[in-house]
Amino acid sequence: METRSHIDVTRKRRRARAIYNIEKVPQLPLGDRVRLKEVTEKYPFRVTDYYLSLIDFNDPNDPLRRLVIPHDRELLSAGELDPCREDTVTVRKGVQHKYESTVLLLVNEVCASFCRYCFRKRLFMNDNDEAVYDIRPGIEYIRHHPEVNNVLLTGGDPMILPTPRLEKILSALDQIDHVRIIRIGTKMPAFNPFRFINDDYLIEVLSKYSLPNRRIYIMCHFDHPRELTAEATEAVDRLLQAGVVCVNQNPIIRGVSDDPQVMATLWNELSYMGVPQYYVFQCRPTAGNEVYAVPIVEAYHKIEEAKKYCSGLSKRLKYGMSHESGKIEVYGVDHRRIYLKYHRAKHKVDEQRMIVCERNDQAAWLDQLRPVDGYRNEYYRSTYDQQRGYDIRSDGGPYS
Ligand code: SF4
Repeated sequence: METRSHIDVTRKRRRARAIYNIEKVPQLPLGDRVRLKEVTEKYPFRVTDYYLSLIDFNDPNDPLRRLVIPHDRELLSAGELDPCREDTVTVRKGVQHKYESTVLLLVNEVCASFCRYCFRKRLFMNDNDEAVYDIRPGIEYIRHHPEVNNVLLTGGDPMILPTPRLEKILSALDQIDHVRIIRIGTKMPAFNPFRFINDDYLIEVLSKYSLPNRRIYIMCHFDHPRELTAEATEAVDRLLQAGVVCVNQNPIIRGVSDDPQVMATLWNELSYMGVPQYYVFQCRPTAGNEVYAVPIVEAYHKIEEAKKYCSGLSKRLKYGMSHESGKIEVYGVDHRRIYLKYHRAKHKVDEQRMIVCERNDQAAWLDQLRPVDGYRNEYYRSTYDQQRGYDIRSDGGPYS
């Protein structure tokens, strides 16, 4: 598969400009711009001109187009804006503590472009103010929790922050001895690689705080091999030269990243760049996302198919769901069952717990699966069982 942009002009570019109004995307026919404007009034739109230049607008099914250009069916998709109930693990404004050793800081509320399937699109909406500008309460919280050895900076995309602001955050975390890893979640290398190519100060800052015994991890978000342009490769190389660790994580999205050949090419190319694939996530059932979801069984088989074309180094990933009750790996599927395992659990009792469910080829989320006897946990007891009138007293299995 061709991994470079089909448009050579991007190679000469040195900056990316943001476009916030779909009516200002000249590559789209006027009728589309007018029609899709309605979608963007509900779920905001933003894209860089650099990313637009990677899209083949002659192909209505172009995967990169699907990633950033709205789809009419977003308005028909049901779902909540926060289906994973991040509010229940929010301990201070913009501070989430769900897994014992990890704290998450929402340090801003914007990205260079907006992925249509974003699970935190609520942050981009007008009446949301969850992200924090004053990180001091979050820093104090982390300081008083010695069990926290890693902190994830997210949002939004932290890399959109001005470098001095980012340095302030890194410096504050650097002064807490028990924080040994700082992760930064970003799709900036795909949306605006010039952020890393042009800013020597940023590279210096990353280098200063990524130390031999406490590293910065950049959690990249590449969805498709066509995002791995010469510029993106250069951006990632600059990050690696700064001494950070880079890995990749992305959701499996219908029409973007649900083709085994595309996945295999992405993972192999990333492994050549030094960015191993870490997770493939199930698309969260956030409002507007139904059109982008791939059912679990289909996704599992496609991922297993893709792995046939990968070296061991490029297929170290786990496929899972970031669910309200924890990060759940989809471990296997056979003709009757779906085998799941908690990789990180919200409740300690669930750590590494297996959940075995009846196979359901339409299900796209844990809540749509029915566990077999003996494998129900607190989550099922408190939601699924009550909703369905399931008699939990009859469950005498090993994990009751
Ligand atoms: S980069 Fe991440 S946070 Fe930003 S729009 Fe995409 S999925 Fe959402």
